[in-house]
Amino acid sequence: MFHAAPWRRTPCGRFRPMSTHVSIIQVAVPSPLRRHFDYLPPKTGPLPQAGARVRVPFGRRELIGVVLEVCAHSRWPHHKLKPVLEVLDSQPLISSDMLGLLRWAAEYYQHPVGEVIQAALPVLLRRGQAPQEGNGLMVWRLTDIGRQQAPETLARAAVQRRLWQAVRDAPHGLDADSLAKLAPAWRAPVRALEKKGWVVVERRDVSVSMPMQRPMPPKLNPAQQAAVVAIQAALGAYQCLLLHGVTGSGKTEVYLHAMDAICAQGGQVLVLVPEIGLTPQLVQRFQQRFSVSIAILHSGMNDTERLHAWTRASSGKAAIVIGTRSAVFTPMPALRLMVVDEEHDGSYKQQDGFRYSARDLAVARASRERVPVVLGSATPSLESLSNVQPGRYRLLALPERTGSALLPRVSLLDMRKLSVHDGLSPPLVDALRLRLERGEQSLVFINRRGYAPVCACRDCGWLAPCPRCDARLTLHKRSGRLRCHHCASETALPKKCPACGAANLHGLGEGTERVEDALTKLFPAARIERVDRDSTRRKGAFEDKLRKIHAGVVDILVGTQMLAKGHDFPNLTLVGVVNADQGLYSVDFRSGEQLFQRIVQVAGRAGRAVKPGEVLIQTYHPDNPVFHALQQHDYMGYTQYALDERRQAQFPPFSHLALLRAESPNAGKALGFMRQAQRLGNALATNGLVILGEPLASPMEKRAGRYRAQLLVTAAQRGALHEFLAPWLALLEDESESKKVRWSLDVDPVDMY
Ligand code: ADP
Ligand code: ZN
Ligand code: ZN
Repeated sequence: MFHAAPWRRTPCGRFRPMSTHVSIIQVAVPSPLRRHFDYLPPKTGPLPQAGARVRVPFGRRELIGVVLEVCAHSRWPHHKLKPVLEVLDSQPLISSDMLGLLRWAAEYYQHPVGEVIQAALPVLLRRGQAPQEGNGLMVWRLTDIGRQQAPETLARAAVQRRLWQAVRDAPHGLDADSLAKLAPAWRAPVRALEKKGWVVVERRDVSVSMPMQRPMPPKLNPAQQAAVVAIQAALGAYQCLLLHGVTGSGKTEVYLHAMDAICAQGGQVLVLVPEIGLTPQLVQRFQQRFSVSIAILHSGMNDTERLHAWTRASSGKAAIVIGTRSAVFTPMPALRLMVVDEEHDGSYKQQDGFRYSARDLAVARASRERVPVVLGSATPSLESLSNVQPGRYRLLALPERTGSALLPRVSLLDMRKLSVHDGLSPPLVDALRLRLERGEQSLVFINRRGYAPVCACRDCGWLAPCPRCDARLTLHKRSGRLRCHHCASETALPKKCPACGAANLHGLGEGTERVEDALTKLFPAARIERVDRDSTRRKGAFEDKLRKIHAGVVDILVGTQMLAKGHDFPNLTLVGVVNADQGLYSVDFRSGEQLFQRIVQVAGRAGRAVKPGEVLIQTYHPDNPVFHALQQHDYMGYTQYALDERRQAQFPPFSHLALLRAESPNAGKALGFMRQAQRLGNALATNGLVILGEPLASPMEKRAGRYRAQLLVTAAQRGALHEFLAPWLALLEDESESKKVRWSLDVDPVDMY
């Protein structure tokens, strides 16, 4: 567990006792300053309660903040304080439990409390709107078929054509009001479009479970049963249960069973899923199972939808909340259980601004609200596993796949001995051909989008560089462009080499587009679908592709890790991993763990139903212990090895880290600030419990036109780290150099760049 050192918390009366009968309102204001602000009560009306929003004057502006406390004293003289202008909530908007968690998180992550509270609220609440439930918005949007139509097809149906074009051009689809504005008599033509299969209607934002046939839940196997019993026994108090279940072992089924009784008794359950794990299939599975109302929260929703879902969760109306990262902050008055699915997933960590880990905050929240939390994964993080031995977490294991499904057979293809064309080796091509003959699906996994990661001149060796980063531009053939995957830079693909003028540019290495092209050439009759960020940019595109895969109209899938998680494709029997070595010898100490997790997840898509699965891994390093463990399905064996490595190197979980980052458009400025930060830190860290590393240029020093540097702080004890960070940051803030660079602190960094 975490220990946060309190810092700059100014308990009432610590500085100066004031006259006793005036109340002081302590407000968290959205500002980068790392403290709260004091105000006098509003001129009229009752005092606001802690957790309520207030409108306050702030400099020359007016801002909306949240009341932290109402107390009797201020450290400032009264005549310097201004009154609250307006109280927006007569009842607390944020419960005291949640407010406590947010204040704790602000200290733990050393982030301004006003910004932390902002991050926890839906945008419309930040802007002062009242909570509002909504009743489910019907939205019409285009299908893939509808997108492929030419306007001429509707030459004789002008209204249909107008509506079809409007729906096509609306990124989020259109609701009834918008359609009515376009054509008052819209219903009949839209129904005609629905009949053609060009548009579909969806119920978006909060989803009230629709009456539908409920399939009988499967009978649990003994391991699942034991896990459900353990979770139910834990209800009513804090406990962290680590559910380690191999892919397809029925983890989701365990959550569903455990939730059943809770929902029946009026309790609430919060389910967190990774950014791309929240698929319509998953939501549907929950909806089919429960007759209670479910609130969905994810980044693809618009502000109104988020407000509705949040309101129904915090009023207790939604029994189940399923959401991504920031859903961990949803107030739930009857919370009984929390679930963090795929707890190892990197998307739980916010990578900018308030850099929190939703998984860690879920554990902290469970402990504060005295409910159990289940962390589920086929590949638990080393951090979570290391909590099992000392008894902080309880391990629940699902060692086998459900039903008759077996774990897939994993083979290594030694690329040193094979000839490769466009990234594909002959054994992988043969295996794909076999699946096509059998009418089964295959997945070719390549963790790089675009055509090729480098664009080179064959004549002079020129490599297209990003003008703003220390990186190469990726060749995107479909769009005919060179793009940087680290910043927004892009240019048209030049016809001739800018260095020597030769018309001999080509791509080095392979991405999803190139593999897709190669497969199309090899198997002209196969139906191939590419799934990566480029091919799913349009809203609903990913869902459309998933629908096609499930409908069986796809033979070969080519994709990035968008396809790796959570999907159940019963007819998929082959997974080919094209570039398994990526990340094997990276400077990041977590790269081995992440590589293993990625491959287990993607391999886990194979053979989940009755047909056995096969996984082929192309590697130039078949002797690496990672691959040996992968073949044996021995994740625990691998983690023993990896934990030993971490222990020897004193990396987490055997130490605690904070990473100071800085960037500046001027070369040398960020590094200069780091040197100063190191000097100030060394003066503070005299007890030897905290070690400051050397200031370093970041591994990719220049990114998006800024030069970046970093400094790592390591401590054996969590408490020592936090006792150090607070006064250190206070010193840094007072430094004039700190105003000239953009800097941030990352507590428990995941990405080390
Ligand atoms: P995981 O979350 O571990 O990937 P799921 O819960 O999605 O696994 O289960 C995988 C598949 O097995 C699903 O189709 C699910 O309906 C089915 N399943 C789960 N538990 C059982 C069981 N005890 N008996 C039969 N089928 C099951
Ligand atoms: Zn050239
Ligand atoms: Zn760039």
